[in-house]
Amino acid sequence: MAEPIKIALVGIGKIAVDQHVPSITASDDWELAATVSRAGTVDGTPSYTDLDTMLAENTDIGVVSLCLPPVPRFEYAAACLRGGRHVMLEKPPGATLAEVYALEQLAKEVGKTLFATWHSRMAKGVPAAKSSLAGKTIKSGQIMWKENVRQWHPGQDWVFDPGGMGVLDPGINALSIMTEVLPAPIHLTEAVLYTPSNRQTLIQAEMVFTSGVRAEFDWLKEGTQLWEQRYVTTDGTTVELLEGGHRCVVNGTEQDTSALEEYPALYDQMANLVRSGQSNVDLSPMVHVSDIMTLARRVVAPAFEW
Ligand code: NAP
Repeated sequence: MAEPIKIALVGIGKIAVDQHVPSITASDDWELAATVSRAGTVDGTPSYTDLDTMLAENTDIGVVSLCLPPVPRFEYAAACLRGGRHVMLEKPPGATLAEVYALEQLAKEVGKTLFATWHSRMAKGVPAAKSSLAGKTIKSGQIMWKENVRQWHPGQDWVFDPGGMGVLDPGINALSIMTEVLPAPIHLTEAVLYTPSNRQTLIQAEMVFTSGVRAEFDWLKEGTQLWEQRYVTTDGTTVELLEGGHRCVVNGTEQDTSALEEYPALYDQMANLVRSGQSNVDLSPMVHVSDIMTLARRVVAPAFEW
């Protein structure tokens, strides 16, 4: 058994507490050696409020995982790479495409791993959907990603600030699955975005892509949350991804799924990337987000309050 790799977690908020800390502490690959957050801490782990101090005082910590919102993330990621650390990025990997390309280049220059994670791609049914669609031609598709922002981002105003992406923050999860399972790339042809009159980013979106693929994202869904994708191919195969991609049903038959939960699978992949000296940066979901912002028709929606 290889020695655990020392890792620091930055931005101790909702997703760090819900997913990153339990996944790291349950894994033999990792040792949670420090946290950096202005207010958040993890019991039993040395905590810092300043990244540079943590990096300077912990030369044995070789990996940093960034769980901050996307807008402040670039400066943290660049400082970690310049400080000779491997870096793991929460999704979306940055506030803009250009800044993530810059990080990718920097990681190459310093010879460190950069992993732009897409947790929804690790959903258990995604590999079955991908293999069922391989080599086929998509005739139509329907993506429904409808959840309650008040449940999943309680009080997080950053999602409605510039760079927060609004409903495209969860929507990019759907797009990360779409870009993973489709046998050939598609692109956006139309979109309508609904932005609350008192906010900067959208709360609902409707999109049309080539190959007859349509998508609806909604952040005001109460009751049962809906995270589904359904593709029909020209040879009559229907592939459904249900429950955020955790179930895959092909022509009505439930498929075998992978074993690991999303975040343990991400940390498993990060350990492999670090040990093999590789990076993994696929920006195709973010290209679609950028296209949606570029091409969409805008509609002003009722004001949103928490
Ligand atoms: P969050 O709780 O609002 O933020 C995480 C932490 O980042 C905060 O607690 C805060 O800690 C720090 N932070 C916030 N703004 C900052 C700033 N301007 N500068 C420096 N630090 C700042 O957000 P989250 O829900 O965990 O989401 C973080 C990332 O994870 C996002 O990219 C999101 O898309 C992704 N994600 C979220 C979820 C979810 O269900 N919420 C699920 C999957 C992925 P301190 O105040 O202690 O510094």
